Amino acid sequence: MLDRVRIVLINTSHPGNIGSAARAMKTMGLSQLYLVSPLDYPNPKAQEMSSGAVDILENAIQVDSLDEAIADCSLVLGTSARSRAIPWPMLTPKDMAKKIKAEQEQADVAILFGREQSGLTNEELQRCHWHIQIPANPDYSSLNLAAAVQVLAYELRVASLDQTNDMEEWDYRLATADEMEKFFNHLQEVLIEIDFLKLNAPRKLMTRLRRLYFRARPDIMEMNILRGMLRAVQEAKLLKKE
Ligand code: SAH
Repeated sequence: MLDRVRIVLINTSHPGNIGSAARAMKTMGLSQLYLVSPLDYPNPKAQEMSSGAVDILENAIQVDSLDEAIADCSLVLGTSARSRAIPWPMLTPKDMAKKIKAEQEQADVAILFGREQSGLTNEELQRCHWHIQIPANPDYSSLNLAAAVQVLAYELRVASLDQTNDMEEWDYRLATADEMEKFFNHLQEVLIEIDFLKLNAPRKLMTRLRRLYFRARPDIMEMNILRGMLRAVQEAKLLKKE
């Protein structure tokens, strides 16, 4: 279970935090670290703070975009110290660990961590199935980045040590982040073509539809059906024009 979880740090400013996050991961048995455009890396401060966890840093995958970091993941979770513009399904760290334990084995799970100064953007949070909030002091709720990694990694470790098997059975694998994005782009294209979505008055329509489809967690067969329906709408629209 722990091998399937990747920790994704987005635009981290302080290299020391990257090292501390690597250490936090290794103590709990996590190994997959993704760095999305870190601001000051590589930097010896990262090695210093990682203590004996340099192997995690050496194997870390550095990418330029969030898309590259999560494309093949079927579950994407975003961490946030505060609630955002439109409410999103939330999980406590403990329930997150249970959910990850029950996930299908075929694909990886990504947990996103934001910038020290400003956290994750709304756009990044809207790439996620669930948001995770560590129930901290409401008057001072923002943990250090590596401390937040430590809390979630600890819950994952505890869940992994529990012997009960609650893996969910399903006939098809779930859609990946990349397949979900292609679907959302196709959906938006069709909604514009049929004049349902007007870009100058979007009423957060795409955000609400993202939340809906993430909640449904379509598998690959359902995703093919949805894409087929969209193509049929486009063809019917063309026929009408002729
Ligand atoms: N000032 C930022 C907080 C950034 S803390 C803000 O207001 O959003 C850096 C990162 O640590 C966050 O993006 C998140 O990934 C994680 N983090 C910090 N505190 C957290 C909490 N209480 N719950 C979940 N994640 C937290």
